[in-house]
Amino acid sequence: MLYLRDASFVDWRTLKVRRGHLEVAPGPAGKVRFIPRIPRGARAVDCSGRLVTKSFVVAHHHLYSALACGMPGPKRAPKDFPDMLKLVWWNLDKNLDRDMIRACALAGGIAAAKAGTTFIIDHHSSPNAVKGSLDVIADALDEVGLGHLLCVELSDRDGKAKREAGLEETDRYLRKRQGLVGLHASFTVGDDLLYRAIAMAVGHNSGIHIHVAEAVDDQKDCVKKHGMRVVQRLARTGVLESPKTLLVHGLHLSAQERALFRSSRSWFVQNEESNQNNAVGSFDPKGLGDRLLLGTDGMHGDMLASTRAAYLAAQGRGGMAPLAAYRRLRRAHDYLSENKFTGDGENNLVVLDYRPATNITAGNLAGHFLYGVTSKHVDSVISQGRMIVRRGRMTTVDEDKVRQFTLKQAERLWRRL
Ligand SMILES: [Zn+2]
Repeated sequence: MLYLRDASFVDWRTLKVRRGHLEVAPGPAGKVRFIPRIPRGARAVDCSGRLVTKSFVVAHHHLYSALACGMPGPKRAPKDFPDMLKLVWWNLDKNLDRDMIRACALAGGIAAAKAGTTFIIDHHSSPNAVKGSLDVIADALDEVGLGHLLCVELSDRDGKAKREAGLEETDRYLRKRQGLVGLHASFTVGDDLLYRAIAMAVGHNSGIHIHVAEAVDDQKDCVKKHGMRVVQRLARTGVLESPKTLLVHGLHLSAQERALFRSSRSWFVQNEESNQNNAVGSFDPKGLGDRLLLGTDGMHGDMLASTRAAYLAAQGRGGMAPLAAYRRLRRAHDYLSENKFTGDGENNLVVLDYRPATNITAGNLAGHFLYGVTSKHVDSVISQGRMIVRRGRMTTVDEDKVRQFTLKQAERLWRRL
């Protein structure tokens, strides 16, 4: 048992604040409850003056880009988004080997944990080192102490052998652990691969995780090759029927596609900062309903930043209330629990050392999340009842040793680019 003394506990659903001592049970289904006093002799973490609430979920990440920060730029400036993929990201992912993948998962996992994240939904790519790659990532995230839902982004972009290796890795991994069947995007996925990915998802009682209309090129390609738009193509093949399916981005959608999505059971993941970074457009939730999640698209693991970006971007489109942005951040817990994925239980908590100049109430807490609280306030993080970050330092892994390793792997990777 873990004990938190004198915490101001914020219920993530109601935003009501209640002060008291908490008992946090360990394990994937461990409960959290108020207790009148800390048992004699038990070690308790002092939380006086601090907020304790549910920790965060990254609903779309690319841990494989965790060593990209500061890397050398491409030989020439990309002319558009597909060109950027070819020059930058498809060059990076092809150069990854096993040690680098491990370094990425450790570095990205630690950064996310220290920003209050305890669960990562990842979309992985390493076409020349795909075999066993999901195990390497899962093991690294287990060491850090994070829950996860992994997949390989399957694609036809590198030919048949690479596609088959990706399918094999996905099948092998889903036989033993929870995960999704990843697809890169419609424009690099032929019909044969699409049908096989769907069959695999159905066979493993899983869903599809795919980029959708991130740039307008994805739509143009789909109309040219398949005579229909991307969401129509996915709807026709049954991808949208699974409540586990994650569609990512959704920037260039017709009214018909919006309606198709809305009447389906799948989810969209918004990644506002990445969209700005790539200058591909801005997410418009019009007509999409409320099965919307937030991700970082590999830029970082900080969901408070991601939520703020979504909130600010919405202001130019007629506005968004702080509570609506907060609710979108929290929808990931519904996605995970409704689909019975494990690792995002009640005993995933973040302790925030946040002492604002203004009062905190249930009515204004969403405003504090948007304008006050940042990842610098993350004091401690509890994942499945275990303290993984304590007073800003990892307890599960030796951060200095990991850093020596990641620096070395980044140096090796950058030399290859
Ligand atoms: Zn992505």
